[in-house]
Amino acid sequence: MTEMLKGIAASDGVAVAKAYLLVQPDLSFETITVQDTNAEEARLDVALQASQDELSLIREKAVESLGEEAASVFDAHLMVLSDPEMISQIKETIRAKQTNAETGLKEVTDMFITIFEGMEDNPYMQERAADIRDVAKRVLAHLLGVRLPNPATIDEESIVIAHDLTPSDTAQLNKKFVKAFVTNIGGRTSHSAIMARTLEIAAVLGTNDITKRINHGDMIAVNGITGEVIINPSQEEILAFKEAGAVYAKQKAEWALLKDAQTVTADGKHFELAANIGTPKDIEGVNDNGAEAVGLYRTEFLYMDSQDFPTEDEQYEAYKAVLEGMNGKPVVVRTMDIGGDKELPYFELPKEMNPFLGFRALRISISETGNAMFRTQIRALLRASVHGQLRIMFPMVALLTEFRAAKAIFDEEKANLFAEGVEVADDIQVGIMIEIPAAAMLADQFAKEVDFMSIGTNDLIQYSMAADRMNEQVSYLYQPYNPSILRLINNVIKAAHAEGKWAGMCGEMAGDQQAVPLLVGMGLDEFSMSATSILRTRSLMKSLDTAKMQEYAHRALTECSTAEEVLELEKEYL
Ligand code: PEP
Ligand code: MG
Repeated sequence: MTEMLKGIAASDGVAVAKAYLLVQPDLSFETITVQDTNAEEARLDVALQASQDELSLIREKAVESLGEEAASVFDAHLMVLSDPEMISQIKETIRAKQTNAETGLKEVTDMFITIFEGMEDNPYMQERAADIRDVAKRVLAHLLGVRLPNPATIDEESIVIAHDLTPSDTAQLNKKFVKAFVTNIGGRTSHSAIMARTLEIAAVLGTNDITKRINHGDMIAVNGITGEVIINPSQEEILAFKEAGAVYAKQKAEWALLKDAQTVTADGKHFELAANIGTPKDIEGVNDNGAEAVGLYRTEFLYMDSQDFPTEDEQYEAYKAVLEGMNGKPVVVRTMDIGGDKELPYFELPKEMNPFLGFRALRISISETGNAMFRTQIRALLRASVHGQLRIMFPMVALLTEFRAAKAIFDEEKANLFAEGVEVADDIQVGIMIEIPAAAMLADQFAKEVDFMSIGTNDLIQYSMAADRMNEQVSYLYQPYNPSILRLINNVIKAAHAEGKWAGMCGEMAGDQQAVPLLVGMGLDEFSMSATSILRTRSLMKSLDTAKMQEYAHRALTECSTAEEVLELEKEYL
């Protein structure tokens, strides 16, 4: 039956394909006494064989897409599956306790996991424990007759449906086959949404309960521009979505003509259009979209993609690749911003009630816990600085003393490298993100000490409105055009200019077509956004007159009391 729902439009694009349900199934079962233990052993054998077949297939796909080395984890799983010792113990348990295969499997695998995990100074055995846990889950799913999703096996055009996608889930989606994703929760500035825009995968988030309404394999149509989703669309609806997709593709082709053009307004004023990236691999898209700089390199993804803290050399290589890839254009690298919705599996932080308000980002970097990690990052950055035009930016700064502490570490490591005879560029700008209202209010004082300020509206809005950026229930409060937010932004830009510094914006608002006229009017110097938004923004700026936008911004700041009034006023000026 056709069903229509609406979510938050999170990444442009239109797609029609089969749904791939990425939901963890319920693996609970009851322990029961059985008479016929032979039948249970036979059930176990069938589940073991099915798991083996499935894993072999997953391994094959992983070799194709990721290479032999990355696929080796599945060899370990296959070895666990055929371990005669473990299998005979499970069967023994079934017979001795006259119980079902599920219980036998769980008791024996749990015992092995406990023993191996107990060998704390033996990382090899700890890894085996993790392998057994994974394999046991797969066999149990087969015993219970439920499906375990595995996005790595997707090999036809699909639309992924999930309750939520973490940034690392998103990174694993194969763009060749995954044409869109739709989730129950999340908003436009969730990191999965930001990544979808970078990967150019259409996305609709915050639909509440799509995972309950759809079956694996159902046809689904998704419009990431409007937020519309149709389950089992009619032939006419499919045609309408495909038409919308074609219109969007045509528009994109027109914007593409501006790739090598200057970013200037109708009256000839230049604004810098920069790109936000998560990995060196994104640089290709950055150049294809005609970016003039990288305005935000979210380095935490380097940490998130790895099994352990990246070494100084690994980081150096990544930063060097980005700087060289940008060919002398400015690159703003943000020091790691772990916390909030970005976690590291190997870095245990205490569980917090409010992770977005907790021990995160620069707070970790300048603490005792994060000191070594931070120094490693700073050294890698300093060493890479000779390969291009590096700028360093600290995230989540609330206090001037936090900036000073971080800057002192930067100065110390620079002096250390100098003493070691390592060459370091001497024109590295050091700036901060303004994403906490306290810092936005005190921007005049910060501006005296920093080289630049880049406004992180994704967090600035959530902190100003006290509305979680990931929570669709309060997404109505997430208002970039609210005059309160505009005044904070204006305060930062004016404060920077008063000290002869530049002000940028690297939150999603910088690429928001309705916000750009206001930001031009307020005199923002640099706009950093998903690379895929750059060309359309360049096209929009060509049509704007600065003096007119200044008048519009002035009136929005002084006369308007709601976001709706601001957008209404915009119509007078566009
Ligand atoms: C921001 O907060 O606006 C920002 C750019 O950083 P992130 O989205 O990574 O928190
Ligand atoms: Mg932020």
